[in-house]
Amino acid sequence: MIKPDAVANGHTGAILDDIIKGGFKIVALKYTSLSSAKAGEFYAVHAERPFYNDLVGFMSSGPIVAAILEKDNAIEDFRTLIGATDPSKADAGTIRNKYAKSIDANAIHGSDSDENAQIEGNFFFSAFERF
Ligand code: ATP
Ligand code: MG
Repeated sequence: MIKPDAVANGHTGAILDDIIKGGFKIVALKYTSLSSAKAGEFYAVHAERPFYNDLVGFMSSGPIVAAILEKDNAIEDFRTLIGATDPSKADAGTIRNKYAKSIDANAIHGSDSDENAQIEGNFFFSAFERF
């Protein structure tokens, strides 16, 4: 998911280009937004974390771009492409290094396991929206 900060700052096209050039196939793609209830549901695993309310507020603050991506070793390779959660610690050339300003507005989300990727894909897309 391209987060509201990156969409608002005009980085959607550049980020999609990095993803495609990184060897990921786009299976599904959608420009939409999350209500605070839907953002809370998406990040429910973090409900007990101190930053949860801020995270939900931020993720529902403006439009986002959701995608399902496919690649061998996708979870790990996408993590490498996006960089560390805190952009100040993200390697040069990573998406967060290039397009993110802070740990809460960090430009992009990546699923952390194959299992969560399935759940998160189903959260945004029906079977008819996948190619
Ligand atoms: P994401 O799940 O969004 O891809 P991540 O896997 O790198 O990010 P997580 O630990 O899953 O990081 O945290 C989810 C999101 O919560 C982060 O992307 C960030 O926006 C926010 N977050 C994480 N840690 C902090 C923190 N210490 N302070 C503020 N926000 C944080
Ligand atoms: Mg995560």
